[in-house]
Amino acid sequence: MTKVTRFAPSPTGPLHIGGVRTALFNYVYAKQNKGKFLIRVEDTDAERSKEEFEENILKGLSDIGINPDEPPVRQSERSELYMSAAEKILDSGNAYWCDCSKETLEEMRKEQEAAGKKPMYDGRSRNLGLKRTNNSVLRLKTPQDGELVFHDLVRGEVIFQNSELDDLILLRSDGSPTYHLCNVVDDFDQGVTTVVRGEDHLSNTPRQIHIQNALGYDSLEYAHLPMVLGQDKKRLSKRNAVTSLQDFFDQGYLESSIINMLARLGWSKGDKEIFYLDDLISDFRIQEVQKAGAIFDPSKLDWINNHHLAALSFDDFKKRLIPFLDALSLDYTQKKNTNEIIAAMRSSKPNLLGVAQDLIPYFSELNSYNEKAANKFLIGSETILEYVQRKLNSIEQWNETSIDNALKEAQTALSLTTPKLNQPIRIAMTGSTQSPSLGLTLSLFSRDEVNNRINAALEYLVNFN
Ligand code: GLU
Repeated sequence: MTKVTRFAPSPTGPLHIGGVRTALFNYVYAKQNKGKFLIRVEDTDAERSKEEFEENILKGLSDIGINPDEPPVRQSERSELYMSAAEKILDSGNAYWCDCSKETLEEMRKEQEAAGKKPMYDGRSRNLGLKRTNNSVLRLKTPQDGELVFHDLVRGEVIFQNSELDDLILLRSDGSPTYHLCNVVDDFDQGVTTVVRGEDHLSNTPRQIHIQNALGYDSLEYAHLPMVLGQDKKRLSKRNAVTSLQDFFDQGYLESSIINMLARLGWSKGDKEIFYLDDLISDFRIQEVQKAGAIFDPSKLDWINNHHLAALSFDDFKKRLIPFLDALSLDYTQKKNTNEIIAAMRSSKPNLLGVAQDLIPYFSELNSYNEKAANKFLIGSETILEYVQRKLNSIEQWNETSIDNALKEAQTALSLTTPKLNQPIRIAMTGSTQSPSLGLTLSLFSRDEVNNRINAALEYLVNFN
């Protein structure tokens, strides 16, 4: 049978990377089985669902290359389907109207709690044959004893005691269908065969299977994925990590790196760390997903992004970098050696935003020095700056090798360690102590620019005398 999976986000917030991982595993599982991947927007919670979140979710998935095989469906547009399913369950004798008031339910809960029992609806209206009133809800007649057993591709056999499940509500008193009913009806209507979702939905599964049974639907395949945790081992949230997909894009993490990182959250393949979407489609095995929570480590994402950035051709890298340079208002077009500068700096940071920020001193005037670096290396370095400046002005061919030679000669002549000689010059040129090798750094500037920046540093030092 063709496998059909779906990602079913509730648009109550922007696309979260935990959600992207669920979508990815659904997508990969469908594709590797030559099946279909669908998206369903679960927007029945009218108060919390927002169109802007739906847009953000659909755009994020498409930006990362996870596209559905059919246009997404929206639950808010499918009420009739749920109503007729509710009627079918009622007609088959598997549901009943219940008019227990809020007060009655509250009393029931208190009594159960006082008796040390799990609070749940006790089924008191089950056999009363009540008619619908303005206050009635429709409840499912859930089997009261026995076990509900299902096989989970990740967790193996999962068993729930029916006595732990109460008669859940299918239609609210205002007639609106509940989440469980919509979810089950949609999976059936969309031809879904496999539900891949977060472990937080595990306890919903027996309830949903009871609804399926009441409707005579075929059973589905399930895979409940381990939760994504922050570094503090708590559930990943805005409080312990950057979670919105857009934030990762804004920092210049590549789509392929995010996919790679997410695939490794709860799944591994020997020592292999670098995966592109196509590798996942051939290598991923849902049965190999771990049960334990998966910790999201931002430094691992940096490491992965470094690899994916390094694998880009120069032209691709530059194309990806330009929006970040533009956002910093850097005019990279004025230099003759723009490509050389970008090539020299492309691995300076693990994301494009960091690389673009490191390029500021190359594509704009230097207005300040890193204070700590200046205090440590620049102050008191007048002799070094002047000596090296003279030396550099005596070079015939302005290139990396001849600059390196001049620096070595200066180091010997002044009997200084490499950092003592190099750091003041580096700070004078870039404002900080971080740059590629000094010969390369200097060669990225014209000799005039080097002279101007060393002069500016000397002027700055006048204030410290
Ligand atoms: N709408 C649910 C959520 O956003 C997902 C339900 C499901 O995958 O079955 O958590």
